[in-house]
Amino acid sequence: MDIHYRDKKYEALGISKEVYRFGEKIEKELWERFGKIDETAEYNQLKVIEAMQKNKVCAECFSMSNGYGYNDLGRDTLERVYADCFHGEDALVRPQITCGTHALALALMSNLRPGDELLSPVGKPYDTLEEVIGIRPSKGSLAEYGVTYRQVDLLPDGGFDFEAIRQAVGERTKLVTIQRSKGYQTRPTLSVERIGELIRFVKSLKADVICMVDNCYGEFVEEREPLDVGADMIVGSLIKNAGGGLAPIGGYIVGKKECVENAAYRLTSPGLGKEVGASLNVIQSFYQGLFLAPLVVSGALKGAIFAANIYERLGFPVIPNGSESRHDIIQAITLHSPEALISFCKGIQAAAPVDSYVAPEPWAMPGYDSEVIMAAGAFVQGSSIELSADGPLKPPYNVYFQGGLTWYHAKFGILMSLQKLYEQKLVNIDMLC
Ligand SMILES: *Cc1c(COP(=O)(O)O)cnc(C)c1O
Repeated sequence: MDIHYRDKKYEALGISKEVYRFGEKIEKELWERFGKIDETAEYNQLKVIEAMQKNKVCAECFSMSNGYGYNDLGRDTLERVYADCFHGEDALVRPQITCGTHALALALMSNLRPGDELLSPVGKPYDTLEEVIGIRPSKGSLAEYGVTYRQVDLLPDGGFDFEAIRQAVGERTKLVTIQRSKGYQTRPTLSVERIGELIRFVKSLKADVICMVDNCYGEFVEEREPLDVGADMIVGSLIKNAGGGLAPIGGYIVGKKECVENAAYRLTSPGLGKEVGASLNVIQSFYQGLFLAPLVVSGALKGAIFAANIYERLGFPVIPNGSESRHDIIQAITLHSPEALISFCKGIQAAAPVDSYVAPEPWAMPGYDSEVIMAAGAFVQGSSIELSADGPLKPPYNVYFQGGLTWYHAKFGILMSLQKLYEQKLVNIDMLC
């Protein structure tokens, strides 16, 4: 194709020559790295296909079940596909699991009993888990049921505090929760390698402790997953990486048979477990989403790296930085001013396939101590494997950026964010392109 068509189309969509040229320059510098990401995606694609072939996925798997959902072939086969793909003994993959927090709460509440202790050796968990655990008092929390909680923070350099972990693991320690992604904190995201190191250490202190990994945003970023390095259970959301952008709802738990069984009895009912739970009309999207997930994740990763390099070159602090290795799909950029944060989000929104004509505005979101601005023009509401950005309107004006169902959309969104900053004279790219 004549390269001309592409240039013209960007221009027609509102990307100025200066912004486009700067973007092209940055992208060219990243090709080698993008090649590595493609190789990981290729490997993971084969892993998914292998699991589907092994379990004889067939057209009947996509037919709808309703009512109790006894003998739901599609659901049962999909759960075996997940188990094989992520190297677990069993899996629970259900539309009845409403989101990531629900999946994590389910895994915790079903595998802990009154008197047990839960330990997080990697610092404070994701915000929504504070109420699940009872760090912030809440109705129905683990604390209300007599499950206690302990936390060991990471060292200032991001390393594990092995001595403090040794002291924290006691007779009542039943389950250790390890959050792979940094989420919206500034600590480093954990590589699968480091998760393995931590699990080996914990198991050396107490062999029968259950090691659970919050796998949100981490699926398919690397060749290995936490179950490959000794985790007993991984937990995640289907409207993030694993659903490939197609799953409209859902969550998963994969791991040791007993852990998954406990979760199933809690999700439905003692005595019923995995036997009930109709998959309704969504099961085909679960299969297709998983099939596409390695490619979708690779696009989101390229977008995060592209954004990091663009904004780093312009002098903004970025976490992770432009060159470090990636273990999740989240990119944080410190924009330093409310104007820049708002412009950034307006650009992301303006590049969306859905709701591109609305302009995001800061609002007082419940649970936050400052106004928050969010940009998302998504096919699935709240889906953060789709291109999205948000940030609290307070210093240092960080924006958290993630997703992109295709690399091309991620690229367009980032260029559009830059365009908005450029138009407001909040960046100086003229000398860089
Ligand atoms: C998103 C996320 C969750 C919670 O998932 P929801 O689907 O938003 O409830 C938990 N942990 C991490 C690390 C996450 O990124």
